[in-house]
Amino acid sequence: MKFNPAKAIQDLKQFGEFGGVNPSITDSSTYTFLEGETMEDTFHGQMEGCFLYSRHWNPSNKYLADALAAMESTESAWITASGMAAITCALLQLCQSGDHIITSVTTYGGTYAFLKNWLPKYNIDVSFVNITNLEQVKKAMRPNTKVIYTESVTNPLLQVSNIPELKKIADSGGAKLMVDNTFTPMILSPARLGADLVVYSMTKFINVKNDCVAGAICGSNEFVDQLSNVNDGTAMLLGPVLDPLRSSSILKNLNTLHIRMKQHSRNAMYLAEKMEEYGLKINYPGLQKHPQHKLHTKLMNPDFGYGGMLAIDFETEKRANTIMQKMQAAGVGYLAVSLGYFRTLFSNSGKSTSSEVPLNVQKEMGLSDGLVRFSVGLDSDIENTFQTILKCIEE
Ligand SMILES: *Cc1c(COP(=O)(O)O)cnc(C)c1O
Repeated sequence: MKFNPAKAIQDLKQFGEFGGVNPSITDSSTYTFLEGETMEDTFHGQMEGCFLYSRHWNPSNKYLADALAAMESTESAWITASGMAAITCALLQLCQSGDHIITSVTTYGGTYAFLKNWLPKYNIDVSFVNITNLEQVKKAMRPNTKVIYTESVTNPLLQVSNIPELKKIADSGGAKLMVDNTFTPMILSPARLGADLVVYSMTKFINVKNDCVAGAICGSNEFVDQLSNVNDGTAMLLGPVLDPLRSSSILKNLNTLHIRMKQHSRNAMYLAEKMEEYGLKINYPGLQKHPQHKLHTKLMNPDFGYGGMLAIDFETEKRANTIMQKMQAAGVGYLAVSLGYFRTLFSNSGKSTSSEVPLNVQKEMGLSDGLVRFSVGLDSDIENTFQTILKCIEE
């Protein structure tokens, strides 16, 4: 069935309390009650639509959460102050001392570091697997496995996760499947494919402007209630609340996400095809030769393309640095970490956003010293961009 996440957001018809075309922005940390009893009930999560204190819920974050839940087809969503806050709060809500997590070895560097260095201190065991090898995932399952964690398209190797099959494996052991969909909003709908939880760094494509850091967790009503529980909810007690001014700004940007994703994808596809023709070692899920091209095509929502992320292996760190500096000087984009910006961003993954991953592990997973990850921008003349990149490579 064809699903249109942009229409799902538009169908919400959110508007402001005075008829404003945009919802009003909450400018309060606390809320008044006419009756003491209502306050008590709200504290215990029983008063739908009542607001108590902004770390718990606030109207601006609720509008954005409702829009994200519509986009993901989940019952509910929770807004956080960063992508890492979304990931860590969700994992800590699901796991306790003695539990076990299976994760893709290729993930965002911060996620890798949390799983590798932080969770073991609290006696939570983590197995790192090649997430495209389903047999390996099955073998890693233990009676105490609580979560299978992956990225729908992994950073920076752009492997595509087989979400429906991973869900079956998770279900067979009573574990939850949690998917980071930061690279592919609207393109892939992990919850519709079986994921129990979808997490985002909204810092990237969703917000596009690179003017703030933010995150989200999309899941069931039950899970969001657990996250926000005043007695043991991680989101409530660790407190990574996003400022309402920011969430209202992100909500407005979310309304153009579908157009942007199409353009990011169109530009990335153009560059990938041209670069492949030219003979560069290019990795892009939209290319036929990508190992999970067919799988991606099967799983994706139509019309949004294969995303804005691509990777080129320039083989050595030195060559990668030279080319990146030239590209920046020539106006291709910026030598910067992060992604999803309207301008093209590029960085050497192994030396930046995956530098938390030890060198031997980088080698094992096939992450080359010279791998440059591109987040392709919204360029209006991508042919010209390609010609400029070629000059930087050839000179
Ligand atoms: C950036 C990123 C994160 C972390 O998000 P922040 O907003 O920086 O905390 C997590 N996952 C992926 C895939 C990312 O690209």
